[in-house]
Amino acid sequence: MGNTLRLILGDQLNAHHSWFSTVNNHITFVMIESREEGSYAPHHIQKVTGIFSAMRQFAQSLQSLGHHFHYHNILDGNEPNLRTILASIARKKGVVKIEMQEPDEWRLREDLEKLRGEGFEISWCSSEHFISSNAEFRGLFEGKKTFLMETFYRALRKRTGLLMDGKQPVGGKWNYDAQNRKKLPKDHLPPPPFVPSTDVSKAYADAIAAKLPTIGKLEDPSHFYWPTTPSQAWEIFDHWLQYGLHSFGDYQDALTTKSWSLYHSRISFALNTKMIQPLEVCQRVETYYRTNPEVPLNAVEGFIRQILGWREFMRCVYWHRMPEFASENFFEFDRKLPQWFWNGETKMKCLSHTIGQSLNHGYAHHIQRLMVTGNFALLAGIDPDEVDLWYLGIYIDAFEWVEITNTRGMSQYADGGWIATKPYVSSANYMKKMGDYCDQCHYNPKTKTDDDSCPFNALYWNFFDSQRDKLHSNFRLGMVYRTYDKMNATVKAGIREKAQSLLNNINEL
Ligand SMILES: Cc1cc2nc3c(=O)[nH]c(=O)nc-3n(C[C@H](O)[C@H](O)[C@H](O)COP(=O)(O)OP(=O)(O)OC[C@H]3O[C@@H](n4cnc5c(N)ncnc54)[C@H](O)[C@@H]3O)c2cc1C
Ligand code: SF4
Repeated sequence: MGNTLRLILGDQLNAHHSWFSTVNNHITFVMIESREEGSYAPHHIQKVTGIFSAMRQFAQSLQSLGHHFHYHNILDGNEPNLRTILASIARKKGVVKIEMQEPDEWRLREDLEKLRGEGFEISWCSSEHFISSNAEFRGLFEGKKTFLMETFYRALRKRTGLLMDGKQPVGGKWNYDAQNRKKLPKDHLPPPPFVPSTDVSKAYADAIAAKLPTIGKLEDPSHFYWPTTPSQAWEIFDHWLQYGLHSFGDYQDALTTKSWSLYHSRISFALNTKMIQPLEVCQRVETYYRTNPEVPLNAVEGFIRQILGWREFMRCVYWHRMPEFASENFFEFDRKLPQWFWNGETKMKCLSHTIGQSLNHGYAHHIQRLMVTGNFALLAGIDPDEVDLWYLGIYIDAFEWVEITNTRGMSQYADGGWIATKPYVSSANYMKKMGDYCDQCHYNPKTKTDDDSCPFNALYWNFFDSQRDKLHSNFRLGMVYRTYDKMNATVKAGIREKAQSLLNNINEL
């Protein structure tokens, strides 16, 4: 059936794409569950199951509208590579014309391009998902030395009219981030997250039968709690608008053992698989705000900035900086990730909680990723390749374009400051200020060099000491170096010795 194939990747589940506006009997849509895509990192079992299940439901819903589909199940045949499976389907059908939506990942774009040299006529089109384009990014920063997210964000606010009153930002300011750094009060319990309950047993059984190298848990595949259809995603989102948005800003950065998602929206999986579209998400937030003016502006602006600002910016940075970006290692770190990153078995409460939660749910919120796991990995001098692989596998929303920019760039500073203006690291002070982890920890957050001192403390000062050559001229770090330089030589030697001992025994912490 048909003389053109159109490939739909597992993260291209945009049912509103113009491809689907009319049924065309000459077109067959191809979807492929490939072994290579399921195993280029040790993915969380919830991520693999969620993607397979969402892909299958996407194909079924479009088939029911009359579109023609060829669906390759993970258990169909032994060929692992997506491109070669696609080529083989095309040859069997006698088709040379293959149309594809631009993939978001460099490696896929490079690989699929090879079809051109294999006798196929290929063409690319937009995934019709993102709000901005690479051309817009290049135009805005042409001739500039620094690429600030804030510049990009403001330009997009103006162009889209989101949260604008005429030419002015709503409320008179562009950014209310300073109000978004509160600790959760002691007696405050966030509402439990609203979750769907989908039976994904078949997709789960197929992932297991295919022996994909997965991590993490999926306790009950008959009650899967991530969205696998757009309507489920919008249900979660609309519930969050009502019960979560008002406190999103205030407690955005809070760290707690009381809740795994706090007031975060948990829509990144639905967004990154393109089940829902970012502009509509932002518009729904703004409409909710305009009809419920009691919702704080710091929450509304803070949320829109994450999507219109950070998410769009990271994607453009990814395409601007790849492929070099993926191998950058500014500090030349080469230490292996400690074993306990894979099971959460460490005496450090902040890490055992964040890693444990990530293994249980395939999820941690931004500050857990940045200031707990990312912070430790950077202070401990872990090889950024190891760090990337972990982040790429463990999170349900992890796709290279948004994972690597956040991990290698924002969190590990491996790009030498392209994305972050200084390394995001902290001692126990920050953790204590922002949450309740330290109250439940084996280690003492207040000391540096005792047997039970918090490892973050010595590692923090040791990091700045050992990286002085690379960091001392950074104007944002002047205060850090001034404080360190005031310590006497004995204290400094004690810190160095303690840090070395922690690093030598990293698997035992
Ligand atoms: C080291 C590290 C790795 C990360 N890896 C990923 C990843 O693989 N995939 C991913 O989608 N996000 C990643 N992030 C960004 C962020 O942590 C997640 O988007 C967020 O935690 C998802 O949960 P949520 O939907 O509840 O987000 P909310 O806090 O409710 O935010 C709403 C949305 O804003 C967007 N957003 C927020 N922060 C960022 C950001 N820094 N970059 C891009 N988009 C952002 C996301 O789409 C998110 O769904 C990473 C952050 C760090 C520090
Ligand atoms: S004391 Fe240190 S290791 Fe323990 S929770 Fe606090 S920051 Fe983490």
